[in-house]
Amino acid sequence: MGFLLKIILFGVAVYAVWKTFARWKGLFDRFVGNPPVEPPRPAPTPPSPPQAAPAAPPSQARLIDTLQCAGCGAYISTDAEKCSHCGRPRP
Ligand SMILES: [Zn+2]
Repeated sequence: MGFLLKIILFGVAVYAVWKTFARWKGLFDRFVGNPPVEPPRPAPTPPSPPQAAPAAPPSQARLIDTLQCAGCGAYISTDAEKCSHCGRPRP
């Protein structure tokens, strides 16, 4: 009789374990389960590299547009015929 009782208890235990497992598995599938297959996300666009500076810095343009007078050292415009400070002709 004891052997039969053990078999019944074993069966009940297995049944309880199975029910518990199934319940937890159901909860797991509900919350963490495999979501519907998402379409492949497009690759994130890399940040575009900064475009090249369109114009030279003003200081450089100033250096290009002016030159130093050989007589007095003043910076005069390249468009000037002669130095506005000392009157020396533009080199
Ligand atoms: Zn000058």
